[in-house]
Amino acid sequence: MNKENDIRKKYISVKGARLHNLKNIEVNIPHNKITVITGVSGSGKSTLAFDTIYAEGQRRFVESLSSYARQFLERMAKPEVDSVTGIPPAIAIEQKPTARNPRSTVGTTTEIYDYLRLLFGRIGKTYCKDCGQLVKRDSPSSVVEEVLKFNDDDIVYVTFPFSRQMEVTEEIEKFKESGFFRLLKKDTNEIISIDEIDVSEIEKNEYLILADRFKLQKDKETITRITDSIELAFRVGNGKIEIRNITKNENKKFSKEYECTNCDIPYFEPEPRLFAFNNPYGACPHCQGFGRTMGIDEDLVIPDKTRSIRKGAIHPFNTESNAKHLRALIKVATKNSIPVDEPISSLSKKQLEIVWDGAGDYIGINGFFKYLEDNSYKMHYRILMSRYRGYTKCRACDGSRIRTSARQVFINGKNIPELIELPLNQHLEFIKNLKLNSYETEMAGQIVRELNWRLSLLVEIGLE
Ligand SMILES: [Zn+2]
Ligand SMILES: [Zn+2]
Repeated sequence: MNKENDIRKKYISVKGARLHNLKNIEVNIPHNKITVITGVSGSGKSTLAFDTIYAEGQRRFVESLSSYARQFLERMAKPEVDSVTGIPPAIAIEQKPTARNPRSTVGTTTEIYDYLRLLFGRIGKTYCKDCGQLVKRDSPSSVVEEVLKFNDDDIVYVTFPFSRQMEVTEEIEKFKESGFFRLLKKDTNEIISIDEIDVSEIEKNEYLILADRFKLQKDKETITRITDSIELAFRVGNGKIEIRNITKNENKKFSKEYECTNCDIPYFEPEPRLFAFNNPYGACPHCQGFGRTMGIDEDLVIPDKTRSIRKGAIHPFNTESNAKHLRALIKVATKNSIPVDEPISSLSKKQLEIVWDGAGDYIGINGFFKYLEDNSYKMHYRILMSRYRGYTKCRACDGSRIRTSARQVFINGKNIPELIELPLNQHLEFIKNLKLNSYETEMAGQIVRELNWRLSLLVEIGLE
């Protein structure tokens, strides 16, 4: 066995290290022993340990991975050194203040994001942002299906609303031509002949057109009749229909549009491009998919979160001319039991809302800046404002960069922004535990498998 090999087995052998301050260093560091590198500040201890030995170990590890795995890792330059031999797999523990968000997520790996876009575009479901109802597109057959879920003998009315896209008198004529002569008063379910009522009454939007009413039976004949009247109502009513179960006192609205029928809020239908923030179709219109907007930077307004309100946590209120806002805040704080002598970081979300939005005589931090904005013709207001301006998280999309319609799409209770914020191992768990029905499996099984092995790989190579 030659000497070179012997050294390789027992030592990490560094020759000709010249990075930064290192002056052509040659050193043998024994394996299986604790070695301490000491020296005066700036002598190159970290350069030797982290930037040369660890970096070279890391570089070789990365080189040994498949080209697929390598694309997720930064390319590492070869350190300036003639040779390093006998190097085992390296880990480095650095003394470092805790980073704000030390977790690694898939947020930045575009390939995973592309698969998520496919997954959510195919089988994601939209839930209304205001009422939480499932958003879907209805057809006559889906309405019939819902009606048949009622009990036998329930009294059911098939109605539809005025479109209000033309003059009411014109619309009334149209309905009569189609054979509809009865109106239903929305709040009382009272049936009135269309000719008995004044047009001005109808304009108040208190009436529906009654298309049919029946006692529900589930024999073939009744089902045919129900289907016929629902199809007709759907057509004449421009794809909007309201089924009223009089027995149960239950109303159900349906629409051929992709919208929440409770709130009349339209949504974009899920498709892969809806989740792309670099495409106007998916991007949050408020920040254009940037995730941040120019505004008042909260970290500049409250630079020290350990300070209490009374001790001046809110920076702009610390001048003599603005101290009145601080006094007003302290007054409303007492009323709303907001602690003014505790660090401001201890305030609850609700309490912070009052601090920002104001209450009673206190205009709030936002009100204060609005005042400056409204009076920005005054030079000193503009200067004051500019001290607190910066890029802040977009309030419309909460920094997720995608529009509301995209953020309201969920699979198994999670939307894309929540998913990409998860640490990789939890993200993988979520994908592994997805519960899909047979239709969803058919639509997206392959995508789930692709995501599964890619995420597994990322977790395996230790990016989690
Ligand atoms: Zn809704
Ligand atoms: Zn936005």
